[in-house]
Amino acid sequence: MLKKKGLLLVVSGPSGAGKGTICKELLNKNHDIKLSVSATTRKPRNGEVDGVNYFFLEKEKFQTMINNGEFLEYAQIYDNFYGTPKAAIIESLENGQDVILEIEMQGAKQIKDVYPEGVFIFVLPPSLEELKNRIVGRGTETEEEIHKRFSCAFEEINKISDYDYFVVNKDVNTSVKELESIILAEKNKVNRY
Ligand code: 5GP
Repeated sequence: MLKKKGLLLVVSGPSGAGKGTICKELLNKNHDIKLSVSATTRKPRNGEVDGVNYFFLEKEKFQTMINNGEFLEYAQIYDNFYGTPKAAIIESLENGQDVILEIEMQGAKQIKDVYPEGVFIFVLPPSLEELKNRIVGRGTETEEEIHKRFSCAFEEINKISDYDYFVVNKDVNTSVKELESIILAEKNKVNRY
């Protein structure tokens, strides 16, 4: 019997919806899912570690990787570039390992074009008010950045129909259970490649 490829799970949602926390908890509970580490030109926040949270790169290095076709997708968000390194993901999927990507919508759309068999999941905040509280409460962004992120959230939520599933993040445990159900359902699809 042919070995099944791993699932490529793409998780998006507005900044502050809690997708990072959900993915982290999902990975704590499911050691067989691999998190893709993105590259970015953004500076590390307090506590972030190079090679763990992101590969923190200078703009020139990021540009070289674009030119060499090393990204599965990349996008400019706010004032920085973010991209998904291709090689490690392709290798994992071919080996039957599931991979999860936590990226924003422009990138998710690019992946859907080249890898439509991916599973596209959108994380929603329980309300817009709650979303704003979470972005402000995080305390890591300037007022201008908070404003930018909040306005982008409106635009993003309107494009939810590009996704296969949504998860409303009221509390982390419930959201993780929902994600696990989505993964289980996808694995049991009769016509999965
Ligand atoms: P942050 O700066 O808060 O870590 O991330 C900002 C946004 O960039 C988030 O929506 C995050 O999901 C997204 N992001 C992180 N890595 C990537 C990536 O590799 N590609 C794309 N397109 N977006 C990413």
